[in-house]
Amino acid sequence: MRLTEYLLPTLKENPADAEIVSHQLMMRAGMIRKVAAGIYTYLPLGLRSIRKVEQIVREEMDRAGAMELLMPMVVPAGLWEESGRWEQYGKELLRIRDRKDTEFCLGPTHEEVITDVVRGTVRSYRQLPLNLYQIQGKFRDEIRPRFGLMRGREFIMKDAYSFDLEDAGADTAYEKMYQAYQRIFKRCGLKFRAVEADTGNIGGSSSHEFMVLAESGEDAIVSCDQCDYAANVEKAQMRQEQGSSGEGQAELQKIDTPERKTIAEVAEFLDMDHSRLIKTLLVQTDTGEQLAVLLRGDRELNEIKLCRYLDCLEVVMLGDIAVEELTGAPVGFAGPVGLDCRILADLEVQSMADAVVGGNEKDVHYMGANPGRDFSVEAYADLRQAQAGDGCPRCDGTLQMWRGIEVGHVFKLGTKYSEALGATVLNAEGKEAPLVMGCYGIGIGRTVAAAIEQNHDDQGVIFPMPIAPFQVIITLLNPKDEQVMQAGSELYQQLMDAGVEVLLDDRDERPGSKFKDAELIGIPIRVTVGNRALKEGAFEVQKRLEGERMMMPVAETLSWLV
Ligand code: ATP
Ligand code: MG
Ligand code: MG
Ligand code: MG
Repeated sequence: MRLTEYLLPTLKENPADAEIVSHQLMMRAGMIRKVAAGIYTYLPLGLRSIRKVEQIVREEMDRAGAMELLMPMVVPAGLWEESGRWEQYGKELLRIRDRKDTEFCLGPTHEEVITDVVRGTVRSYRQLPLNLYQIQGKFRDEIRPRFGLMRGREFIMKDAYSFDLEDAGADTAYEKMYQAYQRIFKRCGLKFRAVEADTGNIGGSSSHEFMVLAESGEDAIVSCDQCDYAANVEKAQMRQEQGSSGEGQAELQKIDTPERKTIAEVAEFLDMDHSRLIKTLLVQTDTGEQLAVLLRGDRELNEIKLCRYLDCLEVVMLGDIAVEELTGAPVGFAGPVGLDCRILADLEVQSMADAVVGGNEKDVHYMGANPGRDFSVEAYADLRQAQAGDGCPRCDGTLQMWRGIEVGHVFKLGTKYSEALGATVLNAEGKEAPLVMGCYGIGIGRTVAAAIEQNHDDQGVIFPMPIAPFQVIITLLNPKDEQVMQAGSELYQQLMDAGVEVLLDDRDERPGSKFKDAELIGIPIRVTVGNRALKEGAFEVQKRLEGERMMMPVAETLSWLV
């Protein structure tokens, strides 16, 4: 593409609302434009990177035997009623009505739709195993969309769903996806780790998150320096809400005292809206489990949420506020997998350890939005150990803390959806059996943003080659100079013929500002075409990462680049 024909609205300044580097750079490099909170247009340059990641994902999913399909974004409420999630999902689900007043939602995830597809098309175990995926726009009405594509409301996800007759088959499907994810994120040029999402489940976790290591990550993870133990310790929200950058740990200690604080004091410390409700409660779920949870709410919005962030719990327990009006009320868990629960008691606890004792039952645990990846008491012990800088729960090693961005998630679902929607097949004995499912997500836009978090410098993005929007940028120092234009255009044409994705900066602008743009948008290789070098029969080439300039004979440049 010629830049004179390209839409590349680069910005000199960071937009005021862009807090993290990837958001700032994606805005400044003209990759995205905000339409509304958490809703973006992918501009041509940004879309190219998105498509690169999608293509890598596609190739690896296909290689693993998964099949691509495309489900609708608008999903009838009826399907969600069948699974029970219409009631349980909470406000992240955007509900809409058509002209006949029929209810729909914008799909935040597609377990119901895919299960419906499969129950209507698969009858026999002979048609198994099956793994179906799509790359599609999702909508989640996130309470606090932020950081550009990192936490959008509309975002592109690859979601895959596996179907097997038995657990063993489902385990194999899970392992295949796990391996595919390793390949995908490696190919994207990322430094990442797969971590157990439910830390308590020793001996085979049913869920792993793929975490790109980055200081700006919203999740905290621990990993052992000796064995392969790594887990998500889910405490990042805390840090975000304190509005601090990395000081979370220390500040947390500071107010971790037994003295009671008023809601206003805690709220002030947390930089929270004072009208919010926060409280620790003992609740019983519809499955009979008793859980100690943190309730957070906003009086004005009349919205309450059960929170899974352990460190919040500790802090917030110091708060003192009446929630009598809520006691006994049913509470819906927000999150991808919901469940109903009843509040049993208002826990009087001074510390997390007390809360465990307060519940005083083996199955009391702290949990988040998702049953199945909640924290058991053992998991909590693991976490404490990690925070104390003690050892690994599995070996003699020491745990290290990292921050990470969740770019992918693999999950064993079991028969939750197949049973609810009646997706069964006939097994070898001719008996009906519910399908055993798995689901596997990757945030496409978040992956691009995460790559930028890991690959940038003061001047801008440094794209890893596999996801770069273009591989080469040719900068014409003076496009009005005929020789320069001719030599540059020729190389441009030859590169395109050779299948290289190349951008030609033929704009009539100062070289300095062109170089600045080239650096900002992070194209891995820059070729500069100028009068002086041409006289010596050379172009100047430079890798964005290394920065060192080399003179390259015109005749050799093409073969060096291709
Ligand atoms: P998070 O914990 O960050 O809210 P999640 O656990 O709710 O993410 P999943 O339901 O596991 O997300 O969805 C699969 C993938 O989709 C995530 O691993 C992430 O990469 C991506 N994703 C989820 N929510 C968003 C969002 N709001 N914006 C961009 N990508 C997202
Ligand atoms: Mg989420
Ligand atoms: Mg998550
Ligand atoms: Mg997840």
